[in-house]
Amino acid sequence: MFNIILFGAPGSGKGTQAKLLADKYNLHHVSTGDLLRSEVTTGSQLGLYIKSIIDQGNLVSDQLIFRVLEEYIIRHKDNTEGFIFDGYPRRECQCAALSGILSEWGGDVNLVLLLEVPEEIIIKRLLNRANLEMRVDDNIETIKHRLDIYVETTMPAIEFYRKWHELRLDTYGKKNGEFHAIDNSGDDIFETFNAICKVIDSIKS
Ligand code: ADP
Repeated sequence: MFNIILFGAPGSGKGTQAKLLADKYNLHHVSTGDLLRSEVTTGSQLGLYIKSIIDQGNLVSDQLIFRVLEEYIIRHKDNTEGFIFDGYPRRECQCAALSGILSEWGGDVNLVLLLEVPEEIIIKRLLNRANLEMRVDDNIETIKHRLDIYVETTMPAIEFYRKWHELRLDTYGKKNGEFHAIDNSGDDIFETFNAICKVIDSIKS
């Protein structure tokens, strides 16, 4: 199993890169945002509750997102060479939860990627996406709120993995995975994709 976590602010291009990577390396793309939105479209009571949280740009509870994620992993683990996580972890406590569930099947986090994009470009891209996809959470006020949550809540999770990689070995002497930050401020998605592929190929070879 080869498991990747893809970090980046909302609008940094995680979904686009995750799809390309999933195709090339036979991985399953797990977008927690998409999983939640698909629950919303069922119109269930839970879906309505999730919608009210997402529309305001807030995070759903750790228990709820973990349940959704766990169910997805269990359903797909036997027919994939690994997962690419897009949207999880988003809080520091979710890092341990992810390692816990992967280790149940002998898996681990092999690579952590951070897509770096300056805030002005992020805001432009998200406003553009709002026109194309009509996402209720892509308006200027909610975008700013999601960016604040990213800085305050998700960045500590990213720093956890940066340090985890620098430590090299975990408490049991097992080698920790790689951490790489990749610039994704340009307009050419394949330039970024190729840079990521180089990193993956160097780890896998
Ligand atoms: P973006 O990356 O553009 O902010 P996503 O599609 O990844 O959007 O996620 C949409 C929403 O789904 C988030 O704003 C949040 O409400 C919810 N969500 C997704 N992943 C998580 C998570 N790991 N923990 C809590 N809430 C989450």
